[in-house]
Formats: sequence, C-alpha cells, structure tokens
Amino acid sequence: MSTTVETVSAAARTAPPAVIVAIDGPSGTGKSSTSKAVAAQLGLSYLDTGAQYRAITWWMLNNGVDVGDPAEIATAAAKPVIVSGTDPTAPTITVDGEDASGPIRTQEVTSKVSAVSAVPEVRTLITGLQRSIAAGAERGIVVEGRDIGTTVLPDADIKIFLTASPEARAARRSGEVKGSDLAATKEALIKRDAADSGRKTSPLAKAADAVEVDTTELTLAQVIECVVTLVGEKQAAK
Ligand code: C5P
Repeated sequence: MSTTVETVSAAARTAPPAVIVAIDGPSGTGKSSTSKAVAAQLGLSYLDTGAQYRAITWWMLNNGVDVGDPAEIATAAAKPVIVSGTDPTAPTITVDGEDASGPIRTQEVTSKVSAVSAVPEVRTLITGLQRSIAAGAERGIVVEGRDIGTTVLPDADIKIFLTASPEARAARRSGEVKGSDLAATKEALIKRDAADSGRKTSPLAKAADAVEVDTTELTLAQVIECVVTLVGEKQAAK
C-alpha cells in the first residue's frame, strides 16, 4: 500500500506541470500539423477549434439554416451537439453522434465557415465548449485557432502566432487538396483571412504577449522544434 502511494507521489513530483499552449494564425501556416505534433511529443491533449466551427457550419448547411442570415444562425446555434476528441494522434469530431471529420473539410463548408463563425452567439457557445475542454485536460493541452490567445484562453502559459507569406500558405493548402488550382486557392484563402480578421467578435489577431513565428522559410520539423523548445522553457520556469 505504502509502495503505491510512494510511487504515485514520486510520479506526481516528476511529471511536468500542466501547460496550456495557444497556437493562433491564419490558414496554411502549419497550425494543425504543428499543434498535433507538439501535443503528441509532449504528451498533451490537442484541440482543433477550427474543426468545431466547421462542424457547426456543416450542421447548419445540412439542416436548412440560411447561413447568409446571422439571425437564423444565432437561433440555431445551440441545437447541434459537437464533441471533440482530443488525442493528438487521432483527433475526432462528431455532430449529434455522427462522425463529421470528413464532411467538415469540403469546399462548401470552407467557403461558408467564416460567415457562421462571425456570429456572436456561435462564438459564445463554442468558446464555452473550448474552455471546458481545456479545463479538463489534466496534463495540459495545445489549442489551435484564431482567437485562442486573445479571447478563449488569455491566461495560456504560452502563446504562439504562426504566420507565412500568402504564396507559401496557398502552396501548402493547394498541395493538400488534389487537383486544386493555386491561384484560386490563394484568392479564397486571402478572402477567408480578411473575413476572419475583420469580424467584430474576437477576430483573428495576435495576442500582445504571443511569440510570432514566420514559417515561410521553415520546414514543418523546424517549426515543431521551435514550439517544443518554447513550451519546454515555459514548463521549466513554472
Ligand atoms: O482552422 P480552420 O481553417 O479549420 O478554421 C476554419 C474557420 O473557423 C476559420 O476560417 C474561422 O472562420 C473559424 N475559426 C474561428 N476561430 C477559431 C478557429 C477557427 O473563427 N478559433
């Protein structure tokens, strides 16, 4: 009995303190790949907040909500039940119990998600969900999005803001989607970033205390290493 207690308390003494990592930035900067890899490497949970906004958008498109009408979006916002699985090696997202991981990546959802995510009622609900997931992550969590460092988790232990040139971002996105046109991808990406940065409620923005990492000339492995080092330094200082 005493051996078990000693073992547990020894483990508690040596386990690194729980850490909250906020990673924000526009699309195509490598947020998802970086966040998942950092979380997996450090044994932390992972939350893709963009997937949640995509999921609510997908549900609205499937349920006859006019996504051009903010009032209709606001009225419907609380209806779908969105559940995020936070294992960085196999993140999941379900809507009303149905796997939504594939359908939320369609062009239709991508082109409509900014209109849905701009509605304050949607943001209030999804932000509440994000905070409760982060609060329940015992060993800590990497949360990626657009407003994590500024609004969702302003007390995060470390905030990273990833950037890259529009050309690099479009090339990465285009490479992910088979047969996509580079110029059209760049135009759509710039349009979505402008909508996300220009909305009134918690726009895409760099927190004043975030570390900015320009990934234009970096490989994914270099970005991951950079973020892991920054998190390690924070944990050591805790
Ligand atoms: O990251 P991803 O491209 O999947 O995000 C999809 C959309 O979700 C963004 O374009 C934005 O409209 C919205 N979003 C947001 N706030 C976040 C994360 C994503 O508004 N924290």
